[in-house]
Amino acid sequence: MSMYDMDLERVIRKINSIDAKAVGLQFPEGLKIQATKIARKIEEETDSIVIISGDPCFGACDVSDWKMKGSVDLIVHYGHTPLPLKYEVPTLFIEAFSKIDIKKDLEKSLDYLKDYSRIGLVTTTQHLHLLSEIKDFLEDNKKEVVLGSSQSTRKGQVLGCNFSSIKNLDVEIFLFIGSGNFHPLGINLFTNTPVLALDPYNSEIRRMDEYADRILRIRFARITKAKSAEKWGILVSSKEGQYRMALAKETKKMLEEHNMEAYIILVDNVNPDVLLPYLELDAFVVSACPRIAIDDSQMYKKPLITPQELEIVLNKREWENYQLDEILFHERYQ
Ligand code: SF4
Repeated sequence: MSMYDMDLERVIRKINSIDAKAVGLQFPEGLKIQATKIARKIEEETDSIVIISGDPCFGACDVSDWKMKGSVDLIVHYGHTPLPLKYEVPTLFIEAFSKIDIKKDLEKSLDYLKDYSRIGLVTTTQHLHLLSEIKDFLEDNKKEVVLGSSQSTRKGQVLGCNFSSIKNLDVEIFLFIGSGNFHPLGINLFTNTPVLALDPYNSEIRRMDEYADRILRIRFARITKAKSAEKWGILVSSKEGQYRMALAKETKKMLEEHNMEAYIILVDNVNPDVLLPYLELDAFVVSACPRIAIDDSQMYKKPLITPQELEIVLNKREWENYQLDEILFHERYQ
């Protein structure tokens, strides 16, 4: 049985209700393993033919509506909540909530939270359904719980590229529920408030302070190296929600005003292989997903930095005001 709720009944109901003849399925990497099983069920129980998107997919910034337009009547996109973008094909978002019991982990977390009374509760898509249970648990244990909201996310949710829900929250510590380091790192850096990360997949609980320090040291080293760069690549992704061409053009102009060479490179998926032909360039600015420069930095031979980090390189921003990059979806970059 899957660890996630794939909500097949809802999918089949939707397909039948709009009488879709062709359906596109899109999954994040971890859920692709379910693709053929779900496709078979849909084809058995409806009159539609299924097309599985085989491309990598890391967020709702990357619904394959542009690619599937004309071939399908409906896209079922698993694992992410919708972003305020205009999708070209009707799209059903299935959150794929994890079926994990976190009671024991919550008990454990109390020990780490004993010195704090006002707690900000944050998570990612897969655990949104647990928030009310966690809030009740903490309140039963005499904690005050605060959930933030924003235009791009649900209540208590952050994305790797959008932390608007947790900014300006008056809390003493954040409790983050979810896996990986990137989201709790972002919460820590955007708020300067301690973050306790609870990973329900492996029952791990940890503070983020040390990790944040380590990442900042790596970023400092990359920025320092980029200061000697003269030829730049500016990476733009053609993925709908990551496409920030206006920002890339501004960045090119800014670099040229500083007497540097700069070339805009448009790619679908930013990865080390697509940069191989451009190794005469000294450094790259990534306008695509803000996670790429931070998470994958070790994979690249040349420094890859974010637009905010470039401001530090060009002395337009102080290192003390370091900030992760964010995509403000509701402002729609063109
Ligand atoms: S841009 Fe990156 S962090 Fe934002 S939704 Fe897409 S994959 Fe996730």
